[in-house]
Amino acid sequence: MLQAETARLVALVAAMCPSTHLSDATADAWHPLLADLDAADVRTAVTRLGRERSRIAASDIRAEVRAIREERLARDPLPLPDSDPDDPGRYRAELLALVAEIASGRRVRRPPAAPGGPPSHLAGSRRDPRARSLRVPCPWCGAAAGRPCTVPRLGTPLRRAPAHQARLLAAGLAEPGPGREEETRWNR
Ligand SMILES: [Zn+2]
Repeated sequence: MLQAETARLVALVAAMCPSTHLSDATADAWHPLLADLDAADVRTAVTRLGRERSRIAASDIRAEVRAIREERLARDPLPLPDSDPDDPGRYRAELLALVAEIASGRRVRRPPAAPGGPPSHLAGSRRDPRARSLRVPCPWCGAAAGRPCTVPRLGTPLRRAPAHQARLLAAGLAEPGPGREEETRWNR
């Protein structure tokens, strides 16, 4: 946070919480307490706090920003670093950088690396069901291994689902369940 951002924040808090005593000195006092935080996170934190309480202190904002970052980490599974685990210094540095990126919300989600991911082969393989289902022939439409599933008679590739349910089953990518083939959706 820049000094000017802290000043705007104090003005925002003063407007949101009239009962909070804020003087001209507040921005100067708050700035060193909040300077290391991301301005957008601080603004989100103040909005969240303003919905719940009529008084906001700098320590409340810090705690709320920490909660926001922890929520991001809980939502986005940590991927494995690309670095060689036999180089612990570089591996750890990349891991810490990944945590920082996810916590800040700057990181665009990408699937975690396959080994060490979710323990279940079912959950892990959901990352790219189409490529994995292509390894086996489709028992439903007859597509050979390596060939995509097609709509019977039309011969056009499926658009909504990565493959027919029977093929996903055969590839170990789905669990048996009811539903017509054409309506099989892939929402995960
Ligand atoms: Zn098929």
